Amino acid sequence: MYSKLYNFLSADQIKLNVEMKHHTTFNIGGPADVLVLPNSITDICMTVTFCRENNIAFILLGQGSNVLVRDKGIRGMVIKLGNGLNRFSIAGQEIYAEAGMNLSALALEAAEHGLSGLEFAEGIPGTLGGAVVMNAGAYNGEMKDLVYEVLAIDTEGNFKTFTREQIKFEYRSSVFQKGEYIVLSARLHLKPGSREDIIGTMREFARRRSEKQPLEQPSAGSTFRRPEGFYVGPIIEGLGLKGFSIGGAEVSSKHAGFIVNKGNATAEDVIDLIRYIQEKTREKHEVDLVPEIKIVGEE
Ligand SMILES: Cc1cc2nc3c(=O)[nH]c(=O)nc-3n(C[C@H](O)[C@H](O)[C@H](O)COP(=O)(O)OP(=O)(O)OC[C@H]3O[C@@H](n4cnc5c(N)ncnc54)[C@H](O)[C@@H]3O)c2cc1C
Repeated sequence: MYSKLYNFLSADQIKLNVEMKHHTTFNIGGPADVLVLPNSITDICMTVTFCRENNIAFILLGQGSNVLVRDKGIRGMVIKLGNGLNRFSIAGQEIYAEAGMNLSALALEAAEHGLSGLEFAEGIPGTLGGAVVMNAGAYNGEMKDLVYEVLAIDTEGNFKTFTREQIKFEYRSSVFQKGEYIVLSARLHLKPGSREDIIGTMREFARRRSEKQPLEQPSAGSTFRRPEGFYVGPIIEGLGLKGFSIGGAEVSSKHAGFIVNKGNATAEDVIDLIRYIQEKTREKHEVDLVPEIKIVGEE
């Protein structure tokens, strides 16, 4: 059935039975039946049509920097934007970019054009699309402050333009997390600033990241959402769990808010560790920690 994909995609855009550990920053995940790497909005439209006509379920990935794929992998298709779909343009204070544009690269382009607002994005892995879906943020900035319009397509192939209000940005969340739409592109509004100051701020954020975060080990960023009134790292550290591991999954000894893959972690190790941390936090603080990372794939 997947052979029909070759009618509209090139062979290097189609990967059959591919281990998802090669497609996530956690370096974890079993095989997906098929993974497609679109280069254009047309590729996405045709792939979505193909899935609909052949009754194939699909999930979308940017760069897989906020996901944990289960060990049994993914039945159906993964559409991974990866480095495809990355055209952009800058006019005055407005940026238009396709969803596959690397977020840090976009922040650097903005800086080069003397545009301020995206400094916080320096060092956040992933695509613009993933950042919109997650309302990614750091150092008091988030996508919600900048994005004013998003073009998306639904599973029936209908295009829709979302205004800022319709995107319903909330803390690490947006309307797109319902999974009903694929984000294709976004328009951002930034403020004029001094290139040197912007680059200086980005360098400072990069320095803080490498000092505090376990960037040298595979992870999917912060494991949990921040509960009201608490910081997750200090809670986990206070439970004595810094450096605690189950199988190959370890609470980072650099930043307890991160779970890292020591090299051979399975998704089950990570899920067991998440549950263990949740249990201990509930017992001691009566707080329910909710994962920020998206767990996908066959149970
Ligand atoms: C070392 C490290 C540091 C991190 N630091 C931060 C940080 O400071 N702040 C922060 O907010 N996050 C951080 N993250 C998490 C992650 O980088 C962000 O959530 C990022 O925005 C995810 O982008 P992505 O393209 O990789 O999305 P993915 O992880 O591929 O996908 C995330 C979710 O969005 C959906 N999705 C992705 N693209 C689309 C699309 N085009 N249309 C529809 N749905 C889509 C996916 O289905 C999935 O549910 C960090 C991660 C790592 C590994």
